[in-house]
Amino acid sequence: MAQLLAVEIIYRGVFQKTLAKNITRGIVLAAHNEGKLGISFGRYGDAPERNGIPGKSFAIVASDEQTLEAGMAQYEPKQVDVTVVLDDTLCKGTESWAWYGLRPVNSALKPGRTLIVISLQDAPTLLKNIHRREQPYKLGIVKGIASFSGMWVFKDDHTDVRVLGTIAKALPELFGLASVEKFINEKLKSSLKVTSARTAFERFSAVDVKPGQGNPEELFKFDLPGWGAMRSGVSIKGQPQGGPYADPVTKELGGFRPARNELFKKYSTRIMRPVVNFATCTKCTLCWLNCPDASFDVTPDGTYDANLEACCGCGICEAVCPVKDCIRMVNESEFHDNNSQWVEFKKDKGAYLKSLEATIQKAEPIEKRTHGFRYRGQYQEQVPAALEIANKG
Ligand code: SF4
Ligand code: SF4
Repeated sequence: MAQLLAVEIIYRGVFQKTLAKNITRGIVLAAHNEGKLGISFGRYGDAPERNGIPGKSFAIVASDEQTLEAGMAQYEPKQVDVTVVLDDTLCKGTESWAWYGLRPVNSALKPGRTLIVISLQDAPTLLKNIHRREQPYKLGIVKGIASFSGMWVFKDDHTDVRVLGTIAKALPELFGLASVEKFINEKLKSSLKVTSARTAFERFSAVDVKPGQGNPEELFKFDLPGWGAMRSGVSIKGQPQGGPYADPVTKELGGFRPARNELFKKYSTRIMRPVVNFATCTKCTLCWLNCPDASFDVTPDGTYDANLEACCGCGICEAVCPVKDCIRMVNESEFHDNNSQWVEFKKDKGAYLKSLEATIQKAEPIEKRTHGFRYRGQYQEQVPAALEIANKG
């Protein structure tokens, strides 16, 4: 009987592009070893693909040529048998095309199929971020540090073959472990990688996620206008400027909050977030002036609050702030909301500063999460730690 299977890889634009491409290529070549036909292809998550923007790669495998051609008669698979998320901060949702807004990472999964996440966290923690849905599915974790490198660079920490071994376990209809091993032996020529794939296969297990389980956040809903509802000519709605807003304690209006596109949630780009010590801020304005995404709200008392709905996590504010430790970039995966830090500070300064200290302790160091542009040789330094985790499982 004709069979069509699809795998979707969700990755961090630029930093994981080569990794995602290598995995989808490996899927097709492993499936070839069982006489199946396939194609792997990617598309930009943004145009052009930018640092950290979620992107997607696909592998489609069919039992025969005609089924493959029929399966390709669409822009991208609408339903997939496996989704792999290469960085667990992507579990908060992917902003893959700005015009249709934030999408849950499990939205394309067929009922009962498997979502695989590379993470050091456990399933209950990941489910705080992964949006709930009506159909059941399975969630499996490949224990590991998100592998970041660059558009033209590949960090060879075995993430690619570990994912292939895991897929062989999660979706045996696609290919068995023997086909993955044959692909690695013939194309990658590494017995060490065969061991990594086999170990990942043996260790992988998935938990059942019931309907309604997961992050209850309601994603923004909207209707695209039909052809009949469109006006003649082309018109683009102007962006309002924004304005002052209320102090949560005194209720007095002040400061300035730019109006922002309510559909385009830039935080899905972020692997680190800035945390601000408002008590030491000198109001020098440098963070506000240098932020490339106009993410700072000027608070009614003249400090600067990184608006976490808008911040893409680039780290420039940390670099330009002249006050030691006033802005620190910390690990995004430790957070499950985008609440205003300044509002928390205003409500209880002592509690905020205490929690800031705890946050910095818990979410630093962040070297494990950075995308490698901090110093030359960072990738090479990271590989042994990644391999150790792969070994221990
Ligand atoms: S990390 Fe700082 S500079 Fe970069 S987008 Fe966020 S607030 Fe702006
Ligand atoms: S750069 Fe630092 S000190 Fe200057 S306004 Fe921003 S947070 Fe305050």
